[in-house]
Amino acid sequence: MNPIAMALLLTAGWGFFFAYTARRRWLAMTAGAPAARFDQLGRRFNLMVRFALGQWRMPRHRLAGVAHIFIYAGAAIMLLRGAMLFARGFTVNDPHFGFWLFTTGADGTALGHLYALTKDVLVVLVLVGLAAFFYYRVLKRLDRMTLNFEGILVLCILTGLMLTDVLYDAAGMAQHGGAEFNPWEPLGSIFAAPLRGASASTLTFLHHLGFWGHVSLILGFLNYLPHCKQFHEITAFPNVFFQALEPAGRLSKLEDIEGMVERGETLGVARIEQFSWKSILDMYSCTECGRCSHSCPANRTGKLLSPKLATVDLRNFLYQHTSELIAAKGKQNDDTEPAPHQVELIGEVVKPEVLWACTTCRACEAECPVFITYVDKFIDLRRYLVQEKGEFPHDLQVAFRGLENSGNPWGLPAEDRLAWAEGIDVPLIADQPDAEYLWWVGCAPSYDDRAKKVSRAFARLLNHVGVSYAVLGPEETCNGDPARRAGNEFLFQIMAQANVELLNGYKVRKILTVCPHCYNTLAHEYPDFGGCFEVISHTTFLAELLREGRLRPTNPVNRRIVYHDSCYLGRYNEIYEPPRELLAAIPGAQLVEVEDSRDRGMCCGAGGAQMFKEEEKGEKRVNILRTEQLLEAQPQTIASACPFCMRMLSDGLGMKDQDDLPLQDVAELLWEAVHEDAADNRHT
Ligand code: SF4
Ligand code: SF4
Repeated sequence: MNPIAMALLLTAGWGFFFAYTARRRWLAMTAGAPAARFDQLGRRFNLMVRFALGQWRMPRHRLAGVAHIFIYAGAAIMLLRGAMLFARGFTVNDPHFGFWLFTTGADGTALGHLYALTKDVLVVLVLVGLAAFFYYRVLKRLDRMTLNFEGILVLCILTGLMLTDVLYDAAGMAQHGGAEFNPWEPLGSIFAAPLRGASASTLTFLHHLGFWGHVSLILGFLNYLPHCKQFHEITAFPNVFFQALEPAGRLSKLEDIEGMVERGETLGVARIEQFSWKSILDMYSCTECGRCSHSCPANRTGKLLSPKLATVDLRNFLYQHTSELIAAKGKQNDDTEPAPHQVELIGEVVKPEVLWACTTCRACEAECPVFITYVDKFIDLRRYLVQEKGEFPHDLQVAFRGLENSGNPWGLPAEDRLAWAEGIDVPLIADQPDAEYLWWVGCAPSYDDRAKKVSRAFARLLNHVGVSYAVLGPEETCNGDPARRAGNEFLFQIMAQANVELLNGYKVRKILTVCPHCYNTLAHEYPDFGGCFEVISHTTFLAELLREGRLRPTNPVNRRIVYHDSCYLGRYNEIYEPPRELLAAIPGAQLVEVEDSRDRGMCCGAGGAQMFKEEEKGEKRVNILRTEQLLEAQPQTIASACPFCMRMLSDGLGMKDQDDLPLQDVAELLWEAVHEDAADNRHT
């Protein structure tokens, strides 16, 4: 084509503008706090192949996901096409310069034919995919997608890339090809036909227009990438590769809090550079697809919180302050002044109401195709608000005080912890230190009137089978989850350390729980404090007893039952089957599902310490929406496996004038099926 023009275009497009912007993005990212993400490289590589290269999560939204896969696959072959065209720009005579293996046309190679046909098919699929996104974004105006100039421009650039590619081929074939249809290059052949009557100069012009238009669009797009959401095309791969590999939602431990205070270090995150480099990579990688907000219970009920907008706002702020951040990084390296811009994010970029609306349900994280996380960021910001500024919803003050003084969020007396077990033989670990299992009862199952019935049912099931277990009784305190999720890391750590010492003192190895929040904290967060236990959810444990034939549900429970997935049992720990297995084993029980179930199960609204505070302002309460969803299945009983969910759904049923509809834990239903005298559990 024209080596000089191509060299100039490449130097300007790639060598200067893109390299300059990409370097700034890199420097801003590496100004973030450290994060250890270089372990288990093989596993990371597999995840990247599956989820970034293989686009595994995309079809969760079927049509948009497939449309995205079309565009993504087209982009992959266009990389090869782009490289060929750039190479052709440096030659005047040889149209296959540097890529002879991919020679197309009448004297083409087998690989060339295959490449040409694949490319043409993908060009059509990309255009179909782009049409779908035009439809979703412009015509249908899907809530989760933002209709803005950037989104439209990106669609136009991609469409332009496809059309110039077709023009280049068609004009070239009309110039040099025969009149017959070439099945290996169908698109070019089809569009060459109407051009064949054009003059040689017109065809040359169109050929050059296709060529230079295509390469200019590639370079223009490349330079636009770091400024727009399409940057994910570069960052999504490393973002998936460097995702957290520890159990989902496990929060990081602030090491040596007292030392941090003495050294004047910030507890939590106040400023943008206090997020880790991986969190900043998250911000670069957001595709703005809106899947997170679409599934967020807070967003769905009209709260201020939209996870997508939170990421976009943080990213915009980061872009605005990139120069200061880079300059500050240099200064810190020189051991001089701290960073100059130092704007606090809360209030300025993220409103406190946004932070306090999050239920930590992880619905957003389960949907995000590029594995962006939210709970860790929101908790980091809450940690700063609570521990440095002392600013948090008033109700949480009551919970914190109760945890500090009485070891439970309601401030109830420790000596009442075992009152639920009155009339049932529930051994204390102090009396039976050799018990095989320690049942960590939890606060709600110990004190909440409704949840106490679940404890009674579970104790009866254990006694019925003759399981060797014991409880801590008055020695038990809260595991600390509400304090940690509310941002009070200091209080959580005090509680966790004390609990681990107590459990290790009794040489506990296996722990049973009836509360998913206890399960999650004991199983995944206590190891950071030296507490390494085998923690078993009551649903898993009971399902195992069933399988072993030690529990035989023979009494029919002739009801239509819908099961509500708890976030901390389901999305956090992937315990979906055991509770369903229990229900399916009950004679007469008809298990029905709602659309939002399993990993798409909607939160009840209690997690993330919401249980202990007033819900943020919105159009609807989260528990009401969830109750409505469950009622759509026209159940005769709602089943759950979490005392928090039970409380929220019970309130929801009350507000929907459905107090008479039974709401039961799976353990209660099982006990009803196992033992005839179980009627006292059948209450809402
Ligand atoms: S964790 Fe749940 S409530 Fe919080 S932002 Fe994500 S989806 Fe929304
Ligand atoms: S965070 Fe993930 S799910 Fe949400 S808009 Fe960005 S890419 Fe989409």
